Amino acid sequence: MLKLFNDLTGKKEDFVPLEKSKVKMYVCGPTVYDFSHIGHARSYVFFDIMYRYLKFRGFDVTYIQNLTDIDDKIIKRAHEENLTIYELADKYTELYFRDMKKLRALSADYFPRATQHIPDMIEAIKILIQKGFAYESNGNVYFAVDSFQDYGKLSRKPFEELIDSEDSPDKRNPKDFALWKRKKEDEPFWESPWGLGRPGWHIECSVMSTKYLGSTLDIHGGGQDLVFPHHENEIAQTEAYTGKKFVRYWIHNGFLTVNKEKMSKSLKNFFTIQEVLEKRSPENLRCFLISTHYRKPMEFSDENLDHAQNVLEKFFVALEASRNAHLIDNKDYSKSLTEDLKKLIQQTQSEFILAMDDDFNTPLALSHLQTLAREINKITQKGEIVNPEIMEQAHKLLWELGSILGIFLENKEGISDKLVDLILTIRQEARQSKDYALSDKIRDELNKLNLEVKDLPNKTIWYKKI
Ligand code: AMP
Ligand code: ZN
Repeated sequence: MLKLFNDLTGKKEDFVPLEKSKVKMYVCGPTVYDFSHIGHARSYVFFDIMYRYLKFRGFDVTYIQNLTDIDDKIIKRAHEENLTIYELADKYTELYFRDMKKLRALSADYFPRATQHIPDMIEAIKILIQKGFAYESNGNVYFAVDSFQDYGKLSRKPFEELIDSEDSPDKRNPKDFALWKRKKEDEPFWESPWGLGRPGWHIECSVMSTKYLGSTLDIHGGGQDLVFPHHENEIAQTEAYTGKKFVRYWIHNGFLTVNKEKMSKSLKNFFTIQEVLEKRSPENLRCFLISTHYRKPMEFSDENLDHAQNVLEKFFVALEASRNAHLIDNKDYSKSLTEDLKKLIQQTQSEFILAMDDDFNTPLALSHLQTLAREINKITQKGEIVNPEIMEQAHKLLWELGSILGIFLENKEGISDKLVDLILTIRQEARQSKDYALSDKIRDELNKLNLEVKDLPNKTIWYKKI
């Protein structure tokens, strides 16, 4: 049974979606005003793994991620780059999609944009006013937090600490937050019953999530910084509007840190995804990102990335050594080693699922895969022979489970991979005719292309170093 840590209750709970085997999942997407950094990658790679795993467990998942394309940061940056907010958002949305594609994050089903839902937001705000949860003041509209009894139930902060960051004499209570903001000079604006202006940030997620997924979502996610005020305010607005429970499971990822501080644009301690992928492979970055449980903070460092790369290379060796094992016709295999491997395969499968079912414990799941890889490597490096079909099963399982974590991204099926196989066959022939000068030259030249070649007792394998 899949269990999730629900930030609403502060407990790990059985995951039971509202509708049997259907999951409605909404993740707060980026504010598209700049390049994404690897703090963002942590959040989106984690939710990508969650999405992949829910599908693997047989759920029919609808996954929505919004794009925030109107807020103070967008407006400021559009001025700086001399672009309209639409041009700016288009530019950084495209870059965000490019980064996510490189990281092989599966696409959400839909990426609604705030500026395309302004009339829906105005309608929602009108109803909140009619129901007595919001009030107009000097061209602004605020949500009156006193009117919503459960305000603070997600962040569980004392009521006095639930302070909104924007102070204004137009508010009845400093805790009230803006649903609609009166137009300021040089800012984009829309017409509304309260005059020209633009929506506040929080209302977009309430409106877009319920528009595409219905009043109650199964999972709503984001980074821990979104718990308050963003998600607290989303709950207040949406539940006041619909009268129903908004989200069944609230999930928040911990921060990616640099010197123990949150990686962020404002602290200027960030590395963009693009920068990191110039030096590291997407598999390397993903393997690093899953090596800590998603709720815990994790430190970004070259050393930690190197460690992940070492883990990955052992997987590559195991995958390569066991690839196409079924093509080998060798009946002279060890029965006891085969039995042991068979047991390990079953054990790996069930332990991987147990680990992932336990609130997506990716580091533990990874360690089970490492055990299987270690065993494959031990067998192949000693030149021992197991039943080829069982070795093939071990290969398939490693590949399948690693693919849920998204750490093995390329299957060796492309033409260039086949060409490397062919070059290595020629090298093998050179070795057989004792032309070691040629065989070493081939290996060295492949090394220069960052392709590692390893001679095992029964076969030669290769993998990409980065
Ligand atoms: P933003 O575009 O800043 O709203 O961030 C988009 C998502 O990335 C939000 O869910 C943030 O909580 C998350 N995020 C931003 N920085 C980090 C970080 N350093 N570590 C983990 N998640 C982050
Ligand atoms: Zn949001």
